[in-house]
Amino acid sequence: MDETIETDEDVTFEDLGVSPEIVERLKQDGIEHPTKVQEETIKPVFEGEDVLAESETGSGKTLCFALPIIQNVTNNDETQALVLAPTRELAKQNAKEFKKFALDHVDVLTIYGGVSYKPQIEGAKTANVVVGTPGRVLDLLNQGKLDVSNIDYFVLDEADRMLDMGFRDELEGIMDYCPPQRQDLWFSATIPRKLRDMVDKYQLDPIVKKIKRTKHTRNLEEKYVDVKPNRKLSMLYTLLKDRDRDLSLVFCRTKNTTRFVAKVLRDNGIDAQELNGDMSQHQREQMVEKFKNKNVQVIVATDVAARGLHIDDITHVFNYDVPDTVDTYTHRIGRSGRQGAEGEAITLLEKDQHHLFRKITRVRRDIEKMDPDSMDLLDVKIPQ
Ligand code: ADP
Ligand code: MG
Repeated sequence: MDETIETDEDVTFEDLGVSPEIVERLKQDGIEHPTKVQEETIKPVFEGEDVLAESETGSGKTLCFALPIIQNVTNNDETQALVLAPTRELAKQNAKEFKKFALDHVDVLTIYGGVSYKPQIEGAKTANVVVGTPGRVLDLLNQGKLDVSNIDYFVLDEADRMLDMGFRDELEGIMDYCPPQRQDLWFSATIPRKLRDMVDKYQLDPIVKKIKRTKHTRNLEEKYVDVKPNRKLSMLYTLLKDRDRDLSLVFCRTKNTTRFVAKVLRDNGIDAQELNGDMSQHQREQMVEKFKNKNVQVIVATDVAARGLHIDDITHVFNYDVPDTVDTYTHRIGRSGRQGAEGEAITLLEKDQHHLFRKITRVRRDIEKMDPDSMDLLDVKIPQ
């Protein structure tokens, strides 16, 4: 369990309707009391309500849908729950959580692209819970290899990210295969306009739960620093050298930039590797594993590749490129300062990006300006 995740000691999972058997499994994992979002949503989910919940990353959203589903699915060969997540990594994490607490009869299948169809098609014949990414799920539905026509639960996890990633058509395609009397459980870190539009389009009338951020559980300082033209690499290098850090994430806009920045850092003695969509599924997983095990200190990633990384000891996030939207900013920096650890999120800001960044500072008011003169920029060797 997450050591410092905030739970309500006055409430138990039994109070929310979770069965003794599952409560026992939770206990074995050190989970005794629900988090806020769990407290607010588990009961309505058990009561059959559609739920739309907004709650920050790391607040325990998975169990909100996983526990009622685990408890209620029966051991026939039908698919009773479909859970969609934006990335393979997240789909796998969700599936892992399902399996961890599932009663032995529950058959959980994970479906995502980039790997062979065969085991997924075979598994789909008997799976009770299908956890997957939209592309491959729709693909199997179109091929007639997956049947969701009788599901009881339709879960969208990280709904905002899925829409950001352009999955709307796939989601709607998938929903066309689902029965209208299903229960919709939509979870998201934010509820943007386009998500509300979808709720309206499908004439859902969910119970909406908005959980406030628990600021004091995180210990994250947000800063930005002005960078002179052509000094970005040397600023990043100096910051990395300067900080007392554990794992660090550097965000760049493009795959090419991740490759270049990681290489420059390596050439200057910093243990950095890129993580981007050009890498195979296997390579990406290996890299994430290395990072988790601290065999790589710095990951230089695109937003898409880093989505859903749940790694606890990230102390620093550097925005090498300014994020496009407030949402992206919030997701990026949500990776550090978790578990109550100290964290620092620093955005490198070139003059022509001030207007972009202003959109963000207007909403995120705690971002402080760093004094660039407080640092002596180190020279950085740039390979030719
Ligand atoms: P989210 O989906 O909101 O980002 P997760 O569901 O991935 O959050 O949960 C984040 C972490 O918190 C996981 O490691 C999970 O095991 C842990 N966790 C979830 N609920 C509880 C709880 N009630 N008590 C303690 N730890 C919890
Ligand atoms: Mg989640």
